[in-house]
Amino acid sequence: MTQKHVIVVGGGIIGASFAYHLVKSGVRVTLLDEAKERGGVATPKSWAWINASWGNAEPYFRLRQYAMKLWQGLDKVVPGLQVNWCGGLLWDLPEDELKAYVKQQSSWGYDIKLVGGQKARRIEPNLTEPPEIAAHAPEEGVVEPEHAVTCLLAAAEQKGAQVLSGVRAIRLAEDGEGIKGVMTDDGVLEADDVIVAAGAASPQILKTVGVALPLDAPPGLLVTSEPAPELLQGLVMAPELHVRQRPDGSLIAGSDFGGTEPGSDPEATAEQLFTKVKAMIRGAENLKMAGFAIGHRPTPPDGVSVVGRIMGKTGLYVCVTHSGITLAPALGELGALEILEDERDPLLKPFGPDRLLARK
Ligand SMILES: Cc1cc2nc3c(=O)[nH]c(=O)nc-3n(C[C@H](O)[C@H](O)[C@H](O)COP(=O)(O)OP(=O)(O)OC[C@H]3O[C@@H](n4cnc5c(N)ncnc54)[C@H](O)[C@@H]3O)c2cc1C
Repeated sequence: MTQKHVIVVGGGIIGASFAYHLVKSGVRVTLLDEAKERGGVATPKSWAWINASWGNAEPYFRLRQYAMKLWQGLDKVVPGLQVNWCGGLLWDLPEDELKAYVKQQSSWGYDIKLVGGQKARRIEPNLTEPPEIAAHAPEEGVVEPEHAVTCLLAAAEQKGAQVLSGVRAIRLAEDGEGIKGVMTDDGVLEADDVIVAAGAASPQILKTVGVALPLDAPPGLLVTSEPAPELLQGLVMAPELHVRQRPDGSLIAGSDFGGTEPGSDPEATAEQLFTKVKAMIRGAENLKMAGFAIGHRPTPPDGVSVVGRIMGKTGLYVCVTHSGITLAPALGELGALEILEDERDPLLKPFGPDRLLARK
């Protein structure tokens, strides 16, 4: 039997996960990304919380929960990959909603508990105004997203994938039977299947074969501090301020994990946000802001992932999502299975692209 060849367009966390899982399953993989540097576009600008919580409907919760389980295995088999299972402390909801939320999520098997002020202070001793009640989810974690992409791509290459940086997909190549490959500046690259995993740029690529995928890309601003000594133990989700500490000691924060609306003066927005960070954490009072970044979150209009084949377009698969850091292992693994075996895992069923597609 000839080896199946799959082209992955996009080398952010989603494309990297597809490449890794496909090549592991014996597929010949070519990943191309228009950027010369590895890491993605939205991916390096992410807060990178790995979680299943946050008010999600059950099918989406289940997909995220599965992804968390896969991350736990991935950091053991992908060289250099490190997930910090530091846990999350969250109290950015009114008390009654917080209680209902913890009750619902724990009834679904999520390790999340209500904690009082004393316990919250033990979990995060440096909060200047610790909560009197909070939700604590010890199994939540975080990856440094750019590093995770580098590790996944290196592992994919090590297994035989070809990763082409600085190669742009100009359009998809189609004939009467379906998608045949990708047009690049050097001509058409042919494949049995093409996966469009180009984040916020995915609709432009799909449009070249008449597929109109609606997608929002709201901006989110995150501030970072200069490196500091250890101030936080895990992820902190306070009202209007989500903050965590990175391995180099720097703090990274937004008014929520998806970043702050930058407004007309992003610099002023960043300064205001940073003032709140300094006020929130004992020991951060004299920290300097190192900078801020604005990322655009690829967000389908109903807020959940778009993953699957496109009806009437043989050889075309798409994967675009918000929460891509959390979801990448699940989407990559289950997507690879679908491409290879034509078998759609029940976890993916609600997230097919056809629910959103219109065709010209
Ligand atoms: C501020 C912010 C905070 C976030 N917080 C979280 C969080 O806490 N937890 C979480 O799970 N998620 C979070 N997200 C969302 C997450 O970062 C994204 O869902 C994820 O990074 C999307 O990955 P991607 O690979 O689809 O896209 P990208 O990282 O954007 O990668 C797409 C790639 O496609 C390439 N490309 C585009 N067009 C072409 C073309 N024509 N030819 C070739 N290559 C092309 C680009 O160069 C890019 O490398 C956050 C996002 C932002 C912006």
